[in-house]
Amino acid sequence: MSPGSSSFGGPPCRLRGVTKRYGSTTAVSELTLEVHRAEVLALLGPNGAGKTTTVEMCEGFVKPDAGSIEILGMDPSADNAKLRARIGVMLQGGGGYPAARAGEMLELVAAYAADPLDPRWLLDTLGLTEAARTTYRRLSGGQQQRLALACALVGRPELVFLDEPTAGMDAHARLVVWELIDGLRRDGVTVVLTTHQLKEAEELADRLVIIDHGVAVAAGTPAELMRSGAEDQLRFTAPRRLDLSLLISALPENYQASEVAAGEYLVEGHIDPQVLATVTAWCARLDVLATDMRVEQRSLEDVFLDLTGRGLR
Ligand code: ATP
Repeated sequence: MSPGSSSFGGPPCRLRGVTKRYGSTTAVSELTLEVHRAEVLALLGPNGAGKTTTVEMCEGFVKPDAGSIEILGMDPSADNAKLRARIGVMLQGGGGYPAARAGEMLELVAAYAADPLDPRWLLDTLGLTEAARTTYRRLSGGQQQRLALACALVGRPELVFLDEPTAGMDAHARLVVWELIDGLRRDGVTVVLTTHQLKEAEELADRLVIIDHGVAVAAGTPAELMRSGAEDQLRFTAPRRLDLSLLISALPENYQASEVAAGEYLVEGHIDPQVLATVTAWCARLDVLATDMRVEQRSLEDVFLDLTGRGLR
């Protein structure tokens, strides 16, 4: 699958200081972000964080109150008709015609595109061949989602917005969609997706932006985010009451080492191979054998919960 040709050389999606208010609610607040070509960017955040509003502004469905948005170098509100042919949009909750058959719906969308993908290939790839003659209203929730994805992709867009693309899908369907999104990136398509699922963000995204209360609270690759903020831990068991002063002086600044229970030691800080070597060298120097040594790394979930709080909204 290859995207349509584009003469635009800048980032496919750029937001600068974008704000959107609904009455007294600030859905998105001074959001600045750039999505690079052939990148999968995930907007991650709890319910009501402002993800859908952000995507809807990029798609031209909602106008920002302040700030600027450039999509393929164009203003999505003013140049909406021109943009439609070059972007793919998968809305939350499908948005199909209840009485239309799945296959016909996809063919109709394909008919509007200059160089569409083969709708039968897309139906087959997304496991919808059997459901092609089923009306939209009779498709299962997961099938409606897959059809919405097919409709977003059939026109070979350069840039795709996917709002919670795998919501309501079973594990198998989710994997199929993940593979498809991975294939889009390989083909040079830029993907912006929203998700609640940390696993999905970690699996698919080159970069994540964590949004909370309309504000970007963190951004980076999954690995960068996992290294940020609170630290990893290294735990091990060794004889009691060892002298830790030598270890502490050998570790980088800001690292902590302590005996948290009798014979149970904890080193806190970013644990990399050098830190591990420092700890084992200290053990060798004291001629003690450390056992049960394990590195406890922070998960993306830990980072997410630290940044957005632990309560449900
Ligand atoms: P979810 O993960 O639950 O879909 P989200 O991160 O996509 O949430 P948004 O749908 O963008 O969040 O909503 C952000 C805030 O803006 C919420 O407080 C929501 O209630 C409010 N909001 C969104 N759309 C409207 C609207 N059309 N009218 C009034 N308030 C709205």
